[in-house]
Amino acid sequence: HAKKQGKNRFFWFESSMESELRFRNEMIQGLRRGIEKGEFVPFYEQQIDLETGKLVGFEMLARWNSPDFGIVGPDIFIPIAEEMGLIGDLSEQLIVQAFTDAKSWAPELTLSVNISPVQMRDPWFSQKLLKLLIEHNFPPHRLEIEITESCLHENIGMVRTMIASLQNQGVHVSLDDFGTGYASLSQLSSLPFDRLKIDRSFVKELSGSNSGAKIVQAMVSMSDGLHMPVTAEGIEDEKILEALKTLGKMKGQGYHYGLPENGEAVRKRLAESGQLAQEVPARTGTAE
Ligand code: C2E
Ligand code: MG
Ligand code: MG
Ligand code: MG
Repeated sequence: HAKKQGKNRFFWFESSMESELRFRNEMIQGLRRGIEKGEFVPFYEQQIDLETGKLVGFEMLARWNSPDFGIVGPDIFIPIAEEMGLIGDLSEQLIVQAFTDAKSWAPELTLSVNISPVQMRDPWFSQKLLKLLIEHNFPPHRLEIEITESCLHENIGMVRTMIASLQNQGVHVSLDDFGTGYASLSQLSSLPFDRLKIDRSFVKELSGSNSGAKIVQAMVSMSDGLHMPVTAEGIEDEKILEALKTLGKMKGQGYHYGLPENGEAVRKRLAESGQLAQEVPARTGTAE
């Protein structure tokens, strides 16, 4: 009897592994097809100047509108795309859509995009990005690239060169999820980030006791010391927002301001606040 149970357990194990493999395979096939069919769409999260309360830009967040799986979030498909060597193509597709969307916004609004460590390892990345900026006539100074501390595990000299070449093009480079990685303070201070984004795991502590506030406060004063402006992510309520405002000038984002929305919803929002790009009057041909 015991033997039979063991055998069953073995079969159960095998078949759950099998179904996991099958799911993964479907994902991989679906992802490849989805890129070809353009099923990946940019969503946008508002970024606010906390001092004035004004909208200053958006962070693009990728979504997969899959016929088989529904709306899939980036935490699921980005790692698979990275492993399959598809992240470059996928990212390019999303960035091109985001450029098109952002060109319909008021020109002072910025666009932030997340870039994977795999892309940062590509020595041609900044060239490829420059080509996209030119082809789509998007002003580099409106673009902010977000990279995470996990990029810094690798060849830090190469990362430094990449940051410099992006900044030479006029693109801004931010450190995302600041505080969650393993970057040493000396590494951080040796890289000329334009901005530090404090991870929401720290920000959320501001809704509780004040030991949480101490950490965020320390991160803000460290950023001050490095002359790097700050964005706080994960602002979920008024209490967090008020606590952040006492810590200094900064930008912020989070569900308090609404969930990420698609390009259409963003345009509607901007139309209401008068923050769409001025329509360029079509030339009639009679002028001059
Ligand atoms: P991230 O860059 O740190 O983006 C913030 C994530 O936190 C987003 O999740 C966003 O929806 C969520 N978030 C924002 N405000 C709040 C809040 O107030 N509370 C809570 N609980 N969550 C909040 P999302 O969209 O699932 O993205 C997850 C991660 O996926 C991103 O983290 C980013 O690292 C990565 N990602 C997103 N789009 C892309 C992309 O196009 N390329 C690459 N390489 N990575 C991407
Ligand atoms: Mg980000
Ligand atoms: Mg982040
Ligand atoms: Mg994050």
